[in-house]
Amino acid sequence: AKQNGRNGFSFFDEAMDYRMHRHVSLEQNLRDALNHDDQFHLCFQPVFDCHSLQPVSLEVLIRWQNSQGEWVSPAEFIPVAEDSGLIVELGRRQLNYLFQRLESWKDGPLDGLRISINISTVQLARDQIAENLLRRLRWSHIPTNRLTVEITETSLMTDNQQLRDNLTMLHQHGISLSIDDFGTGHSSLSYISQLQASQLKIDRSFINGIGQGSSDEAVIQATLALAHQLGIQVVAEGVETEQQLAFLRQQGTDLLQGYLLAKPMFEPQLLEFIAAQRDI
Ligand code: C2E
Ligand code: CA
Ligand code: CA
Ligand code: CA
Repeated sequence: AKQNGRNGFSFFDEAMDYRMHRHVSLEQNLRDALNHDDQFHLCFQPVFDCHSLQPVSLEVLIRWQNSQGEWVSPAEFIPVAEDSGLIVELGRRQLNYLFQRLESWKDGPLDGLRISINISTVQLARDQIAENLLRRLRWSHIPTNRLTVEITETSLMTDNQQLRDNLTMLHQHGISLSIDDFGTGHSSLSYISQLQASQLKIDRSFINGIGQGSSDEAVIQATLALAHQLGIQVVAEGVETEQQLAFLRQQGTDLLQGYLLAKPMFEPQLLEFIAAQRDI
């Protein structure tokens, strides 16, 4: 596209310029936001058992409302936070807030649900995240096996001592590892089982291909067969249609997540949702 048309070059440059500018101002805004305490919020998306269709866990997803009141997507600001190293501070904040919520949920309707958190490769390589997590769990009297840490395939491929130490420590203390966006990277299933991941999440792009006559269904079937042979649990993410749901249940997927079943919610809405599920 670079040399398309007469004005190809200038268009390209302008687009580059815009992206660069957006990146720089996002980074600055993010830095400012970390000086306030009220711009980041957590929402929670339920994950369902494939057989019973009951919610069994919650994935914690961060939200940012900037000082202009706009909601900025984590798909946009997490990469910026990673590039700038701000992810380390952001991650610590997020854990503060999460553990505050977990303590307030004690003996309530959310107490029985498992918790999954996203930890980026940069956090694993630059922060003592395992130690931090374990300390907080201990303080809050929350069993380590309630927690799952979602990492991407990049984390498995990165050769970094601190990252390895973090993953080993999490595993040794009974925190489950889940491979997020599975299928988009290059790691093999045998490698994943060596690293003692207990779960993988098939990337949304494959779920999207169900019923579209693509090879995605075959990839899902093969992934399920191999993962189950290796004792790895499989989550399908991004389930949006009844057709996808039916296929995934028929194929014996373990867990399901997606807009069809529940969207990410802030806590008040989540409480209503869980209460309504109990009444069914
Ligand atoms: P992810 O971990 O793959 O999270 C799943 C994303 O898919 C979430 O986007 C979720 O809202 C969205 N989603 C769930 N169900 C559906 C569906 O049925 N259809 C579609 N189209 N989307 C669905 P979100 O919340 O915008 O997060 C984007 C990414 O940002 C996450 O992808 C994760 O990589 C990252 N992220 C979010 N929160 C955190 C965090 O606290 N820490 C770190 N390190 N990364 C985070
Ligand atoms: Ca995730
Ligand atoms: Ca994912
Ligand atoms: Ca993702």
